[in-house]
Amino acid sequence: MTWKKILGQNRVKNLLQKAIMESKIPHAYCFWGQEGIGKDALAIEFAKVVNCRSPIRTEAGIEACENCHSCKSSNSLQHRNIHLIFPMPAGKSGDTKKDTVLEKLTEDQVEEYYEQIKLKSENPYHKISMSNANQIRIASIRELKKKLVLTSSGEGRVCVIVFRADEMTTEAANAFLKTLEEPHENVTIIITTSRQDVILPTILSRCQQVRCEPLNNADISQALQDRNNVAKQDASLISAFAQGSYTRAVEFLGEALQEMRENAIEFLRAMLKKKVYRIEVASHIEQLTKKHDRRETELLLSMLLLWMRDVSNFSKTGKKDNLINIDKYEILQKFTSGYPAKDYIKASEMLEKSINQLRKNVAPQLVLMRTVLDLRRLFLFS
Ligand SMILES: [Zn+2]
Repeated sequence: MTWKKILGQNRVKNLLQKAIMESKIPHAYCFWGQEGIGKDALAIEFAKVVNCRSPIRTEAGIEACENCHSCKSSNSLQHRNIHLIFPMPAGKSGDTKKDTVLEKLTEDQVEEYYEQIKLKSENPYHKISMSNANQIRIASIRELKKKLVLTSSGEGRVCVIVFRADEMTTEAANAFLKTLEEPHENVTIIITTSRQDVILPTILSRCQQVRCEPLNNADISQALQDRNNVAKQDASLISAFAQGSYTRAVEFLGEALQEMRENAIEFLRAMLKKKVYRIEVASHIEQLTKKHDRRETELLLSMLLLWMRDVSNFSKTGKKDNLINIDKYEILQKFTSGYPAKDYIKASEMLEKSINQLRKNVAPQLVLMRTVLDLRRLFLFS
């Protein structure tokens, strides 16, 4: 990894490099923003650069050399100055207070731990996930305290990175707060979170807040092509659904998005037939909801929404440059001329409303039925 390999986030990259170059590194950072946008990647890169033995000054800032012993340890996430904290299983109970969190685990769990670290080192966008672990426990924070006392001297800078800090138990959060209240020299603690609102305000106020923005579609699309071998056309479709998150985009890779979009277009076609539409629409809805997968219904509605936005843009500008469904240009053009001068923005709003209802747990069948009726009214009878 280098800064370059982290998608987007230029503002944050500059801010961090500036802090390093000016030796104005705070004791604690909180990197916050939605999931899958590179908060962990930024934290890891920061830790590597501040520990590199021969960092390189560049026009843009400062880079790790990638060759020194320290950089190599950082790249494999095995650096003695870099401590990672994330939800771990409770491990064996009993009188094992002396044991470290890792020592309490079973052999299989230890294996899983190292596997997760390896995955994270290869891909900092990987979300570390241990079985039976959904909280950062106090044992991890106690252990951190001990480590910080032991590692006060030595080269480089000790960096503690707490992934998903919002998953600390109350006990752990209170202990962590104490650690933050007694800053150690040459130590920087970075917490990352997508749920800043559930972190103790007293913790937040001791950290320099760094907001990480959602990624733009072009960056996500390019990354999918370069890193995941996705064809350009698919990549731009997927990135449109990812809502600024690279990891969400990757999750979509397994889904048959193209096929789903065909379904969405067919569904739209069926619901806008002037007559005899009921049977066909009912069969679409049945197909869509039979797996009881709300996410699938949401995806379909999102596809219709993007379609409607394209129609709206195209009808306004007549240009195809910014169309998401550019590969379906001809169908889109036909659709637009088939339903001229309709209120496409209103149609988009209706679809947004449907998506919201679905998220509020309204039954998918109901949501779909209402969407059909609303869109029919708008396109056929207004
Ligand atoms: Zn180096």
